[in-house]
Amino acid sequence: MGSISTIAALATAPAPAGVAVIRISGPLTRKALGALFKAKVPPVDNPRHLSFGKVLDFQSGNIIDNAMAVFMPGPFSYTGEDVGEIHLHGSLALVQNFLRSIYAFGISPAEPGEFTKRAFLNGKLDLVQAEAVRDLINASTEKSLKVASEQLQGRFSQAIEAIGEPIRNALAELEANLDFPEEDIKPDSAKGIAAVIKRSIKLLQKHIGSYSYGQIVKEGFRVLLCGRPNAGKSSLLNLFLGRERAIVTDVPGTTRDLIEEEATYSGYKFVFCDSAGITETKDVVEKMGIELAYSRLKWADLVLMVIDSTESVESSQKTWIPILDEIRIKTNKIWLVFNKIDLAPDAIAKFANQASLADQVFYLSARTHNGFENLTASLVEEIKARVADSADGSTTVTNERHRLCLIKAEEALERALDCLKTKKPLELASSEIRLALVALEEIVGKTWTDDILGRIFSKFCIGK
Ligand code: GDP
Repeated sequence: MGSISTIAALATAPAPAGVAVIRISGPLTRKALGALFKAKVPPVDNPRHLSFGKVLDFQSGNIIDNAMAVFMPGPFSYTGEDVGEIHLHGSLALVQNFLRSIYAFGISPAEPGEFTKRAFLNGKLDLVQAEAVRDLINASTEKSLKVASEQLQGRFSQAIEAIGEPIRNALAELEANLDFPEEDIKPDSAKGIAAVIKRSIKLLQKHIGSYSYGQIVKEGFRVLLCGRPNAGKSSLLNLFLGRERAIVTDVPGTTRDLIEEEATYSGYKFVFCDSAGITETKDVVEKMGIELAYSRLKWADLVLMVIDSTESVESSQKTWIPILDEIRIKTNKIWLVFNKIDLAPDAIAKFANQASLADQVFYLSARTHNGFENLTASLVEEIKARVADSADGSTTVTNERHRLCLIKAEEALERALDCLKTKKPLELASSEIRLALVALEEIVGKTWTDDILGRIFSKFCIGK
């Protein structure tokens, strides 16, 4: 068996800061702390408490910093191994010096994610939790943080476990019947197994359904700004972002590329995309921009069609209504935003007949901000409405890998149910249920199916 290496890395961001934390994990940790950190009360003698002391250069023995250090003996540590942390002053040069000293001591640089990988391999975290560590670090909004942190606490893994448990019992019961082929499975028993499968399918569907919410929470709700040149799309984008990101001019056709930026409202992440004004044009570059705008329709969770409300109602038939018709072919989630109401105070009455053309209609001024708050509040409500049917945050699926495994499990259970209904040989139903369990095991990175024989034994020989 190869010996386990000891690894070290900077755990904080590589930038000048008040404090930098260097983490060490593995069998050499004790020795390294003893040799590189001198304190009145050495950390290894007082585990899980910070000690104040001096950091030494391994080769020269010189003091290189005053610091704090802590020792967390395995297995009760993040990685399950002996772990040490040294809190130095956050100078990059100092960090480099100290890391060099640690490597000279015989410790290896940690690969990205290696501490968490060790935590997973040592059974400290399951696969979902290990993935959640990455999501937690990358979370940029309150909601994505909540979902990642709940996954890290193990709520999603528990939900998967709660689906797996009755299926394992059902499988044990089914396989017990395989062991006594001379007897047919009792109708009550078959019914009970089918009921368990049906319940599990429902739960799986609920989780799969939460994915679109999960994506919105993690990646952001995607809003595309569309409309004719000069309607005020760029002004609205800047307003959403709270800064001047897009160039605003009264020269039509200024935005030709797609501009994509993020903003947060009420803890939800939004991705706003400004597109080229859609119009008849001979300009090749502008034409490409318009094609790009159309190609973005599928990307969007919602399209805001921005309209210049100083236009006359009569001209709408030639200007924005044909564009709306075109957009409708690709998406049905469109809101109308009548902009520039500071110049057209009669806009609401003027466009009353057009208001039914979209799900929601807003009247605002990107210049005075009048009516803007109503639009952002409605965007937040829209996210909430879309997630109303989905599970609460604790069971939100945010990861494509999890979603694919859940679908695999659900499909296998559907086939198992079909086998039972059509009275196919029990082996077929049993192998489908096993497939479903394996797909669930894949999510959390654990094996449950080994336990089926044990369950059969308990049921029939112990009566539990
Ligand atoms: P885009 O081509 O659709 O991106 O439109 P812009 O945001 O570049 O705006 C075109 C012109 O309309 C600029 O001169 C803006 O200052 C002006 N504009 C945008 N929104 C408003 C508004 O609400 N009121 C007024 N009065 N002018 C606006």
